[in-house]
Order: sequence, then structure tokens, then C-alpha cells
Amino acid sequence: MFPERCSIRKKGQDCPMPPEFVISVKSKDGEYMVGVTCDGHKNAFTETLASLQKEGKIPQGTVSFTGLKPVGTNCIRIDPNDLIELSDL
Ligand SMILES: [Zn+2]
Repeated sequence: MFPERCSIRKKGQDCPMPPEFVISVKSKDGEYMVGVTCDGHKNAFTETLASLQKEGKIPQGTVSFTGLKPVGTNCIRIDPNDLIELSDL
């Protein structure tokens, strides 16, 4: 199972967005999944990984993003902003 939320944490607060990509590092020893990210944090995640690789905290290799299909398709999510727009009509 994948985490339900983006792995990015900013100023001690977890990003509340659902993950859209699985991030993995392809090294010569194999592929390591390092986390999941929402679309908005893709670049931030890439930069973080690059510095972690420099520090030797994660394996060296190519960072790759794989699109994640939403799990639990029988659960319909409604964006509150959409509801507000509808009520304005
Ligand atoms: Zn995020």
C-alpha cells in the first residue's frame, strides 16, 4: 500500500494533498521507492533528493516518477471549492 498523502513536510506540517507520483531512485543495485508526492511538490522533491544523494543518505541513481492511479475508486472526493462555485450560479 502507498501512503495516503504526499511525503513532503514543510515547517513541520505534512502536505495534505493525495499523492500523484511515486518517486523511486534507479541505481545499479535496483530500484528504491523513496516516497510519494503530489503534483505541486514534484520539483521540491527532486531538489531534496538531489541533496540527499550528495549527502549519501539515499542511493545514487536516476530519480524517476511514476504516475499513481487513485486507489479506492468507489470513494468520490468532492472539492469544497467546486461546491462554492456551483452555489454562485
Ligand atoms: Zn505535496
